[in-house]
Amino acid sequence: MNILVTGGAGYIGSHTVRLLEQAGGKVVVYDNLITGHRDAVKNSLFVEGDIFDSELLGDTLKRYEISSVVHFAAYSLVGVSMVKPRDYYHNNVVGTLNLLDVMLANGVNKLVFSSTAAVYGEPDSSPITEEMPKNPTNVYGRTKLIMENVMADYSRTYGLNYIALRYFNACGADPAGDIGEDHLPETHLVPLVLKACLGKTDGLKIFGDDYPTRDGTCIRDYIHVNDLGQAHVLALKALYNGHGSDVYNLGNGNGFTVKEIIEAAEAVTGLTASKEVAPRRSGDPAVLVASSEKIRQDLGWQPEYIDIKSIIATAWRWHKGNPDGFAR
Ligand code: UDP
Repeated sequence: MNILVTGGAGYIGSHTVRLLEQAGGKVVVYDNLITGHRDAVKNSLFVEGDIFDSELLGDTLKRYEISSVVHFAAYSLVGVSMVKPRDYYHNNVVGTLNLLDVMLANGVNKLVFSSTAAVYGEPDSSPITEEMPKNPTNVYGRTKLIMENVMADYSRTYGLNYIALRYFNACGADPAGDIGEDHLPETHLVPLVLKACLGKTDGLKIFGDDYPTRDGTCIRDYIHVNDLGQAHVLALKALYNGHGSDVYNLGNGNGFTVKEIIEAAEAVTGLTASKEVAPRRSGDPAVLVASSEKIRQDLGWQPEYIDIKSIIATAWRWHKGNPDGFAR
């Protein structure tokens, strides 16, 4: 199977590409390198291109006889989405609509789509199951929910077959240590704690310690990036085996507080992160924990990394070995 991976030079994309190739897929990475890293693409065919470039997209689908697409290429920062909504609607909605047009015009109807826990907003109960209400509290979540709805309509009318995966908190790195998380600016907790342990930040801010949780800090569901990537392999195989369009949560099912993540990182590194309590970050729900029962049952997905320290240890290997990330 020849697979186009948009955003394959990004964090989750590059890990998934490796797993798709290990499973026997032939991958073409398609990335505009705005946030992705050329050095994160190791052995795959690479096309530098934008999802708005219909001609290049169409040529790429034809030239490499692509039969499915895994679509990561998107903006994904909640905070930025609130101040630059136009960028987010343009890239994540208009860009994805364009990709869908080019796919359908070229007879490619299988798609694995990156969605997010942010589609749920403030959930009424925990853990979150797929059918619970979708009330995103930020623009990023709204762009992904819009596309989920569009894909459901295209599935009904144009024969699109898609699986949308709603990611909870991706972290960790391939144990090989040669690819990992490298965002500019970095906003995610695990890499920021590790940078604080390395003394590479002014100090970590804990966004709020007055939430109704066991230690007052927010609880999230941290899932290893390779477990997330493996779900894409299973989703794609399911589509090739005739599985219809569907939507799945992807999390570990275990919630950790911000303070617990810091303690785990300090235990793994043997270092102390300089940190201070700061005001809450707007739009942060107190608790986001996934039920991933549906994907376990339907696709046989099973996370390999359950223990938070083992997840952080893989991220630590990457950060210690590459303190400045990929070469820029
Ligand atoms: N967080 C924090 N300080 C930071 C970054 C994040 O306290 O510098 C908290 C954040 O409020 C949330 C959790 O860590 O409760 C995970 O945030 P992250 O940005 O990694 O992922 P998100 O949950 O927004 O997808």
